[in-house]
Formats: sequence, structure tokens, C-alpha cells
Amino acid sequence: MLPSALLRPLAALALAFGCAAALNAAAPHRIMLLTGQSNPYHDWAKSAPVVRDILAQTGLFAVDVVTTPPKGADMSGFAPKFAGYAAVVMVYEGAEFPEATKAAFVDYMKKGGGLVVVHDSNNAFPFWPEWNEMIGVGGWGFKPDGGIGARTEKWGPKIRWRDGKMVLDSSTPGNASHPPRHDFTLVTRAPDHPIMRGLPAAWLHANDEIYSHLRGPAKNVTVLATAQPDKGKYPTSSGEHEPMLMTIAYGQGRVFHTTLGHVAPKDTGPHRSIQCAGFIVTLQRGTEWAATGKVTQKVPADFPTADQVSVRAP
Ligand SMILES: [Zn+2]
Repeated sequence: MLPSALLRPLAALALAFGCAAALNAAAPHRIMLLTGQSNPYHDWAKSAPVVRDILAQTGLFAVDVVTTPPKGADMSGFAPKFAGYAAVVMVYEGAEFPEATKAAFVDYMKKGGGLVVVHDSNNAFPFWPEWNEMIGVGGWGFKPDGGIGARTEKWGPKIRWRDGKMVLDSSTPGNASHPPRHDFTLVTRAPDHPIMRGLPAAWLHANDEIYSHLRGPAKNVTVLATAQPDKGKYPTSSGEHEPMLMTIAYGQGRVFHTTLGHVAPKDTGPHRSIQCAGFIVTLQRGTEWAATGKVTQKVPADFPTADQVSVRAP
């Protein structure tokens, strides 16, 4: 038997280590919310504060909002320090970053960084090859002459879900489009992925755009959920199971890509698309996964069901 005089310091040591471990577990993950420009169809100034609050609500993240210079302003000094952040959440579709900033971001991601791509952020940077690899597939994008629709067939295939699996479609024509905003069903395609574990097999998402015919390199993509526009109601829609939630492996980095989250400049709120509990919960879980590779959050009771949307108060 050890004398109690010897046991006491051992117990104190164990307690100290225990406390340190507990403190580490509770330390929030540093997240950079990068925003500041949108195309004419979206409004970062409306959606980014909601995204910031959604992330902060979890208690898991310390969110720094990094705002680029405004549209049309000189971007040459834009050089945020990515290192040290567990993940970068992009609510951004605007001017190209300076080359040094792009290189720093690629380096950050290749070494194990995290990226979350929200809705029209997948329209950004059509001529940045590494970005296209990070997002898997993207939509529209501006050409050098100012016209919209840079992401053509040349950018790569579309992702389709056919016969129970993901396939790449390089043969059918068509570039990004979407039916008008409406409530639609998301179908879970990777129920064992940490982001999706415990979510319903199908759930109704509120008032959003089904991004369709997205194109890109589509490398190292895992489709988490799809949605299928109703060709009966929307005759010009793809009618395909479009990828809505995805993950992409890029170097050692992890990317969570949600195509959900449309907010238009003229919208006055409530913004049902981003106040949908399904959008909120998948963004929170996807951000934790991008930051850490794990998801510790429980699925809340107000998650939408197959026939009922669930929109939270702002
Ligand atoms: Zn949109």
C-alpha cells in the first residue's frame, strides 16, 4: 500500500491532466467565415450573418468574419491568414483573389484544412483549377467578357445518381440551371457518413433552388444527398437526382459542399431556405466534419420529416 502522502500528489497530477483534457475538448474550433461579394442574384450581407449565427449557436466554433473589399475595389491587398483555422466557410462569389492568396489557400487545404462551400459560392472562381477540384462541381460563373455561364462542358461532367450509385455524365449537354424556389425533398445517399448519421432517409427542405447541371472535375466526391426536380411541374428542369450535399477530398483537406441556401437581394426575410432546420443542421454538422473529420452533434427533434418542413424563427 502506498502512503497517502505519496498518493495525494499523484491524485493532484491526475486531476490536472484530466482538467487539461476537458479544457481541450471544450476549446472551440476556429472558423473563418469568408464573405463580402455576391453576384447580382444573391446577397452575402443578408445570408452571411445568418450563417455566422448558425455556426455560433453550436458552441463548437469561434467564428471570425473576414470580409473582402467590396465589389469592384482593389483586391491586391486581400491576404487573410488561413493557417490556424480549423475550417474556412465561404459565402462568397466575387472577384478573383490575388495569386499569392490563392496559393496560400491551396497550401492550407492540401495540408489538411477544411472548407465549407455554401450555395452560390460554387459559382465563384470558374477559372481557378484548384478551386474547381475543391468544390467538385459548380455552377454558372462569369466569363472575362462579363457574361454569365463560364462553366461549360469543358469544365467537366455532371454528377448524377442513377441505379443506386453516383455516376459522371459527360455526354448530355446543358449547363447550370434551377427551377424556381420551392419546397423539395432531399434524399440521403450516404447514411453512414458522419454528417448524415441519424438524419431521416428523406426530408423536406424549405423554399430553395435545386441547383442542377453543375459541372466540374468531380474528383474524390462523395454524394451525401440528392434532390430531383419534378419534370411535370418544371418541364425545363433536369428531372435527374441532382447532388445537393457533397464532400470532397482535396489533398489532406476536407470539403463540405452544400448547394442549399439561396437568398436574393430583394428578399426581406424570413429567409426560409437558410432558416430551415435541415439547412441549419447539415451546415453545422458539415462544418464540424470539415474542421475535425468527426461530428459530435446530435440530430435535433425539430429536424424536418419527409412530409413536413421545419423552419426556425430568425
Ligand atoms: Zn441562388
